Amino acid sequence: MHSLQALFGGTFDPIHYGHLKPVEILANQIGLQRVTIMPNNVPPHRPQPEASAAQRKAMLELAIADKPLFHLDERELRRNSPSYTAQTLQAWRSEQGPERPLAFIIGQDSLLSFPGWYQYQTILDNSHLIVCRRPGYPLAMKEEQHQQWLEQHLTYQAEDLHTLPAGKIYLAETPWFDISATLIRQRLQQRLPCDEMLPAAVLHYIQQQGLYQKSSN
Ligand code: ATP
Repeated sequence: MHSLQALFGGTFDPIHYGHLKPVEILANQIGLQRVTIMPNNVPPHRPQPEASAAQRKAMLELAIADKPLFHLDERELRRNSPSYTAQTLQAWRSEQGPERPLAFIIGQDSLLSFPGWYQYQTILDNSHLIVCRRPGYPLAMKEEQHQQWLEQHLTYQAEDLHTLPAGKIYLAETPWFDISATLIRQRLQQRLPCDEMLPAAVLHYIQQQGLYQKSSN
């Protein structure tokens, strides 16, 4: 049997405990051996990151250095064109073959905006979606048709993620972490402490590089 492979995409500007902790807990809960972190380069639906691609990569490497669960995939970072998850997952599916279970991990906020993503419906053709809880976001979709889409694909059985190659949405019971990269950038700009929000090595790198000091949020 093929083991479940999981991908975790994002801007990671910077990586923080709201990214790392829910995914580590999720991995324990559902038996994930490996999570591929894929930072994106030019996210089409978002403002440009403040840190450069090289800086975000360096921060990710520092954050996962002692965490064998995670590994880094730089393909989107190296690309000059926009990163569309649908295309990335299509390529990943071609590499892994039709049978391997694949999952894309997102936070609750991303589930709400998900119907606005490029070709969002095709994402489930190639992978499952695993949703981590995030405080401050409702669990229901704004539009009825999107709620129906969600309910059509929902599963409450983690086992489905391991036995089916794609197509399910799983709402994981991970704890809330009230942390965002935006909040960290704002706090750093205001010279407020962030020690509880991200790994010390990442914070040290941010300070060394003089990142997030000017007002741009
Ligand atoms: P920003 O504040 O710059 O928008 P962010 O903190 O939301 O950034 P991203 O890099 O955009 O971080 O997020 C990558 C993925 O991690 C997304 O799927 C997002 O939903 C999820 N995520 C980020 N923070 C949390 C959190 N505190 N709890 C659960 N999921 C999170």
